[in-house]
Amino acid sequence: MIESNNESKNGYVSGIYGSLIEIKGLEDSIRLHDLIKVVNRNILGEVIQIYTNHIVAQCFEDVNNLKLNEEVINLEEPLSMELAPGLLSNIFDGIQRPLEDVFDYNKGQGFLEKGLELPSLSRSKKWRFFPARKLNDTVSGGDIIGSVQENPLIIHKIMVPPNISGKLSYIAVEGTYTIIDEIYKLKQDGKETSFNMMQKWPITISRPFRERINPSEPLLTGTRVIDLLYPIAKGGKVAVPGGFGTGKTVIQQSLAKWCNADIIIFVGCGERGNEIADVLKQFSELKDPKSGRSLLERIVIIANTSNMPVSAREASIFSGVTIAEYYRDMGYDTAVLADSTSRWAESLREISGLLEEMPAEEGYPAYLASKLSGFYERAGVVTTMGKDGTGKNIKGSLTIIGSVSPPSGDFSEPVTATTKRFVQSFWALDASLAYSKHYPAINWLESYSNYPEYISDWWYERDIYWGEIDIDWFECRTQINQILSKESELKNIIQLIGEENLPEIQQLTLFTAKLIREGMLIQNAFDEIDTYTDPKKLMGLVKLLLLFYKESKDLLNQGILIDEIKELNVINDILRIRHSIPNNEFDKIVKIKKDLLAEIELLKMMSGVLKRK
Ligand code: ADP
Repeated sequence: MIESNNESKNGYVSGIYGSLIEIKGLEDSIRLHDLIKVVNRNILGEVIQIYTNHIVAQCFEDVNNLKLNEEVINLEEPLSMELAPGLLSNIFDGIQRPLEDVFDYNKGQGFLEKGLELPSLSRSKKWRFFPARKLNDTVSGGDIIGSVQENPLIIHKIMVPPNISGKLSYIAVEGTYTIIDEIYKLKQDGKETSFNMMQKWPITISRPFRERINPSEPLLTGTRVIDLLYPIAKGGKVAVPGGFGTGKTVIQQSLAKWCNADIIIFVGCGERGNEIADVLKQFSELKDPKSGRSLLERIVIIANTSNMPVSAREASIFSGVTIAEYYRDMGYDTAVLADSTSRWAESLREISGLLEEMPAEEGYPAYLASKLSGFYERAGVVTTMGKDGTGKNIKGSLTIIGSVSPPSGDFSEPVTATTKRFVQSFWALDASLAYSKHYPAINWLESYSNYPEYISDWWYERDIYWGEIDIDWFECRTQINQILSKESELKNIIQLIGEENLPEIQQLTLFTAKLIREGMLIQNAFDEIDTYTDPKKLMGLVKLLLLFYKESKDLLNQGILIDEIKELNVINDILRIRHSIPNNEFDKIVKIKKDLLAEIELLKMMSGVLKRK
């Protein structure tokens, strides 16, 4: 909406406590969470407490050198995101100041000059707008009234802002416009309002939708242990806890690169300046595997280094999710990757300390849980409020994947434990796996996912049908899980009596578990072929491993020894599939299956077990 500048009502700084300032003179007119501005320094802040004779605001910037009695104004709106073409490929801080212009990431210096006032999105860049509605059409919040090709990958739908409706009394013809040029007018109750391509939305309020729907499609990641054992649905919520060096960043980056969301919002919280610089550099060098174009074209990055003010860091995950909801409303599958929510929680703790609030566990404020749930509950698959240009409903999804970095890897600490209550899938990264170079270090005994039931039909429809092993994705994961749990049970016994003294069938289970770990669960994110496994190759590999187990059990029953089974030549071929057979050469996996069956037959013959007629 095109608005007037509504700055009004003046107050003054009456106290300064770190990044918190006390202000007098605004208490009668201001609402909680409204923004204020220290006029002469362009410092923004958010009202977090209101008393009868003063208010307290947390500033989004360093307040060094701020003096008492400086003039403060009420901006009369909460912290909001500017939503319009130009978001993609952009890098913002937690309150949407564009970092690209001021952030020299080659030097790794993540700071903004104090009081720097830059619009979040370019006001001068022109976009080619294509109208999708006619004059006199009646439209309401969420309806798509036109589109802009934001970049070669993504069409940006221009939507009527939420909670607004009316009759189109003007719509711009196809042409180039800036995001602040008028492109349509709506008339309601005799009043005409003018709109441009930009909307604003407060970050702490979810954008409205018509209806939440059950997730039904997986968010494919190409990481085998995730897609098979701990899958995530589009619209789902996942936590990835892990200590330092367990592979959180590699997982987040591989998700950004490979997952089948249309739009990715990457929120980097409180890293050191040079870590953020690395992330930015890596993203800018990555290519989108499908289009071959820069991955940044479908990414928005929100970066907060630890030397930026804590309040901007606290806002960042909500800023990210608000941008994701906006693209969800256009009908896209979006994903918010937050790395790491622990650093975000530390900013809550710092602010709460400044406010001298009564701390709860480990110094975190008592509202840590409500803040975390407020973040994760914004994930989901929805039918949006609007209709597309042809009058059809729009469906979109928002997936949230948050990494957690518990100090010394202890998952019972407050941030990990609280996050666990709000997510449906949990990828527990394990330091001992990482130490033994088993990556991704997702521990198969501590991790879980509640999504398999929701997405099993999707997999069923895409199954490969092998008569020799007639089980679907759901059954495959059950059997793989059983073999892995059996292995961990047996490990204790082995320590007492040694593996060679176990019954042959148990030795076979241990051997198969080893094949599963080495041939499937381990995945090298830096190997060209291994880095991404598509659903068909995944099912081929899994079924081959389970076929081996099934046939080998038969062999044992027929008196063949486990040591003979371990000698099968084909085992090496199975182990090499993950990094030697590209996704589009499935026939090679089929050939290995044939070889497996042939070698088994041969073994039976050589042992004289095969009954000759
Ligand atoms: P964290 O973010 O948890 O501190 P990183 O993601 O930086 O950990 O991972 C640490 C190191 O582990 C990486 O630099 C890389 O060498 C190795 N690593 C992690 N995941 C993988 C993977 N899937 N494939 C190969 N190496 C990995």
